[in-house]
Amino acid sequence: MGKIISIANQKGGVGKTTSSVNLSACLAHLGNKVLLVDTDPQGNATSGVGVNKADVKHCIYNVLVEDMPAEEVCIPTNVNNLDIIPATIQLAGAEIELVPTISREIRLKKSLESLKEEYDYILIDCPPSLGLLTLNALTSSDSVLIPVQCEYYALEGLSQLLNTIRLVQKHLNKHLMIEGVLLTMLDARTNLGIQVIDEVKKYFQDKVYQSIIPRNVRLGEAPSHGQPIITYDPKSRGAEVYLELAKEVVANGERVR
Ligand code: ADP
Ligand code: MG
Repeated sequence: MGKIISIANQKGGVGKTTSSVNLSACLAHLGNKVLLVDTDPQGNATSGVGVNKADVKHCIYNVLVEDMPAEEVCIPTNVNNLDIIPATIQLAGAEIELVPTISREIRLKKSLESLKEEYDYILIDCPPSLGLLTLNALTSSDSVLIPVQCEYYALEGLSQLLNTIRLVQKHLNKHLMIEGVLLTMLDARTNLGIQVIDEVKKYFQDKVYQSIIPRNVRLGEAPSHGQPIITYDPKSRGAEVYLELAKEVVANGERVR
């Protein structure tokens, strides 16, 4: 039975998509069967694994709004062991179209149920909001991984996210756990980074991953080549650290079991 992990933070540009793509690819690299689900209308995770959005016939929109079976929308990527349910800009309408529908918060959960058996990990890249798409992701998930950018005001907005997580636990998914907090885009040359790490560790304690993602030029370049870092530049620091993170995620799962 696979584990479903949402990558969520309503702030944009904190490394959700970069982490979804690269953690998925590294988990797959370690021999796990992985499904990446793109729930951001921007579709950056989709193009990040080399899928041309112009060629996508059906996407997560058809699953959420039109009840198309998830299996029919799932496509393989160029990365071994990694499949994706893509998103296109069509999804932008879903947030509004879902409002009057029945069981609108549990649509993704229902459609992923049949796929849970087939994968070791299902990772969901969330959009930068706490709307219905993120609620669907959190309701489907066993846990949530929160990327936090190493910058001033790193913790700002997190209480809103934690509050949403608590509401989901109370009303929609009582099993939802915090998988971990991932520090991203660390600039090791500044003291600010160190201060932010201390602050975030004080708040989240042992929930913070030991692996801290550095700001790395190759990580920023990889998406424009439609590749995760592990195939784009496997020797880069970015690839090394995302692989370490994948090992931490696997080890944490084994500890809980
Ligand atoms: P989000 O999905 O939270 O909006 P992204 O993962 O898309 O954030 O990251 C925002 C931008 O920063 C993207 O252009 C991405 O390529 C870049 N980026 C993310 N992480 C890193 C990193 N560790 N080093 C360099 N650039 C990064
Ligand atoms: Mg994103």
